[in-house]
Amino acid sequence: MTLRFGVIGTGAIGKTHIDRITNRLSGGEIVAVTDINQNSAKSAVEEYGIQAKVYPDDKSLIADENVDAVIIASWGPAHAESVLAAIEAGKYVFCEKPLATTAEKSLEIVEAEMKFGKPLVQVGFMRRYDQGYKQMKNAIVNNEIGEPLMIHAVHRNQSTSENYTTDMAVVDTLIHEIDVLHWLINDDYKSIQAIFPKRTTKALDHLQDPQLFIIETQRGIVITVEVFTNCQFGYDIQCEVIGEIGTIKLPEVPTPVVRKNAAISQPILQDWKDRFIVAYDLEIQHFIDSIRKKGYPEGPTSWDGYIAAVTSDAGVRAQKTGQKELIELKARPEFYPTGSKTSTSSLRGSK
Ligand code: NAP
Repeated sequence: MTLRFGVIGTGAIGKTHIDRITNRLSGGEIVAVTDINQNSAKSAVEEYGIQAKVYPDDKSLIADENVDAVIIASWGPAHAESVLAAIEAGKYVFCEKPLATTAEKSLEIVEAEMKFGKPLVQVGFMRRYDQGYKQMKNAIVNNEIGEPLMIHAVHRNQSTSENYTTDMAVVDTLIHEIDVLHWLINDDYKSIQAIFPKRTTKALDHLQDPQLFIIETQRGIVITVEVFTNCQFGYDIQCEVIGEIGTIKLPEVPTPVVRKNAAISQPILQDWKDRFIVAYDLEIQHFIDSIRKKGYPEGPTSWDGYIAAVTSDAGVRAQKTGQKELIELKARPEFYPTGSKTSTSSLRGSK
């Protein structure tokens, strides 16, 4: 069976998902699109040469009986209502982060999904599909570095637009570390603190940049994350786990080594789309494959979306108070087993 997708939001990432499902992945096809900007939806259909119906809004797209699954790639505050409508209609959902902009709405989605009776939702936390993070997780699971004690992580972007605000360092940027790090060490978070260092002059006046976060887990692991979104030099993601008998570090993206002018140099990627391009392919392929084989998506769950929302709410509070803020999760329902699976299978090749 081919999984027939409707795409809600045909902006930057919505288009890349249309492209990958149409041109690189197997088992899926785009049959419907919508965007609040109808011209954007129409131009996506033309750009990728797909036979997809253009709908005026998310509700009419979800109601199309030819749509088995929806990809939600509109702007964050609109995600939750589309997810809830899709669950109500019994459609599978791949939702870009955030699942919802508040912990309450995320919980409403969790409850709606449990009421429906089986998992329908996968959240677009693609770092779990990155080869480097997967290798680190395997090493930790195999006890190669002993019990993890600390993590040092870095999330740097070259620059941000004028719409990027101080809280977005948590809700838009840190959110990727929030998801991948609890998965990496299979632990839940306990508290978060935000420290504002000396501001860079390279950011706009309204923005505190860089920011440093200290997160503690229930098992006592201490995590530091530097978020520096106007670092100027590139898109730079780092992660090192310090264990009792060794350390393990996220590998650098392999780029050619240049010897020139009495120096050895290696380019740093500039664009997030390039850094995790394989992971984006793998997450959607896994979504398609697990639904076709098992009847439900196996990737990051609504519960993971809820964890991210509770943690980012606490992170934004911590930015305001300067204090250690508690991250208080409800008890995990049995419906959501600990840690979601990520596929180790490679892509099936192009169609
Ligand atoms: P974008 O380029 O602004 O695209 C969003 C599109 O959705 C725009 O065309 C927007 O129209 C449209 N839209 C807004 N509200 C809508 C609604 N209610 N119904 C239908 N369409 C609506 O943004 P993007 O970079 O693609 O990001 C989209 C989402 O993906 C965000 O939630 C973002 O956080 C997430 N994202 C995730 C990753 C990742 O690494 N996993 C990377 C990038 C983005 P207008 O422009 O007219 O408002």
